[in-house]
Amino acid sequence: MCTGPLKKICHWGPLTALGIIKIITLMTIHCSRQWWPPQESFWAAANFCLFFFLSGSTLFHFISAISEGPGFLPLKWMPDKATDVQFLQYCTVCQGYKAPRSHHCRKCGRCVMKMDHHCPWINNCVGHFNHGHFTAFLASAVSGCFVSTIILISWVVTVLSLKPISFPPPSVLTLVLVVFTIGLSIGVVLTVGMLLYFQMTAILKNRTEIEDWILEKAHYRRLGTGTKFVHPYSKGWFFNMKQVLTWDCSPIGDGIHWSVIDDCDQYTLTREQLAQKMDKRRRARRYRIIEPSSGSWLPIRYGFGVLCHPPYTDETRIKLNLGDIVIVTRWRRYWLFGEKEQKTVGDVPVKRIFSLFVKSQRSYDDEFAQVSNFHGVGDPVLFDSRFRQPLNKNPYTLIASAAEYVPGSQITVTISGSPFKGFFLQARDADTNAWIGSWAQTPNTNTHPEQGLLHRYRSKRIRNILVGLGGTSGIMKNYLLDS
Ligand SMILES: [Zn+2]
Ligand SMILES: [Zn+2]
Repeated sequence: MCTGPLKKICHWGPLTALGIIKIITLMTIHCSRQWWPPQESFWAAANFCLFFFLSGSTLFHFISAISEGPGFLPLKWMPDKATDVQFLQYCTVCQGYKAPRSHHCRKCGRCVMKMDHHCPWINNCVGHFNHGHFTAFLASAVSGCFVSTIILISWVVTVLSLKPISFPPPSVLTLVLVVFTIGLSIGVVLTVGMLLYFQMTAILKNRTEIEDWILEKAHYRRLGTGTKFVHPYSKGWFFNMKQVLTWDCSPIGDGIHWSVIDDCDQYTLTREQLAQKMDKRRRARRYRIIEPSSGSWLPIRYGFGVLCHPPYTDETRIKLNLGDIVIVTRWRRYWLFGEKEQKTVGDVPVKRIFSLFVKSQRSYDDEFAQVSNFHGVGDPVLFDSRFRQPLNKNPYTLIASAAEYVPGSQITVTISGSPFKGFFLQARDADTNAWIGSWAQTPNTNTHPEQGLLHRYRSKRIRNILVGLGGTSGIMKNYLLDS
């Protein structure tokens, strides 16, 4: 039964929501017919039809939000122009780049277009394609429950008043059920109403819940610099609203290309995301595990403190064995946030990390997970200091499109600097220290027999783009100035 389109509904979230819709609808119809029979007058019929319409609309948009889905980015997605990958993050699960505004959802297992959040009630993400239906569902539910609350309370007042009633007196069970439904209905008006308010604000500002968080960090990064980061997608509330709230709830646009304000381009936000990611990598530290950790959600054997201070997130708790290497990006008293470094399994290299950019991802990305209660041995390797070139040898900015590569993947490295003299670029294996990988030749560069790339352009060219083809695995060691 739980296959095909029904698969998404067979989950506690949608089943509970459907149950609530059913109870409120049935009880309201029952009470409405007794309290104000629709056949009695025009207004009674109108009242009855209004509730019927709102209840139907709630159900319709609820089912549509589930079946329509948020819109998943095609697997192995690449931008139209290959060199644009330098502005995008790579998703190792979907093995493709993340289009602007897309994020990977761990529960859906795919990159979601204009991801807002994963909603357990619809057991699906809220994203580009179902944003309209989801908002209409919230609005119908809130107004439907508002009408229902009035009808149910009026019915109770009529029953409990001492005046004679025109319908058979209800049993105690019915009375209890109605009072329970009133509670349910008021609960929906308050909680879903709040959610509707936040959704409407998000739509009018044209920024998702995730983008709110990115913008907050962008603001924080610029404190004291006198510069300001402007959200590229907000083109006035009316324009923003029309992108999502259309008559048939189908959104404007393909979920990949977005209309942006002047002075911004398609990659304004993704460049900021990459910069934030790099900031995070700079803070990252590597530890070796000296005491195993179970990865349990109720870590009993690590003491009271750990048990009583759980992190408020549903990210995975990582199981760790002795000798595992973890990369930590955030420190709390009892918990550390970061991820486990993947090792080679047999002969199959899983993934490696670039030295210049230590791999880590944001909290709603797939790879991010919590490291529960481990004890690191100090700070044995500091990525930055171990691999950084001396300043006098490092006149260029080096930006890689991804921090690590998996077999078959591709990383684009952009080098900017002025005056541009030339360089030699190689990738080095983190464990064996051997030069590895291969490079694609681009204008003004030459591939070198020693698995490197040589550039000898002696004019004041300030930027050059190199495309590195993923070999088996590799770590970006450094580049040498070839003056
Ligand atoms: Zn993905
Ligand atoms: Zn999801």
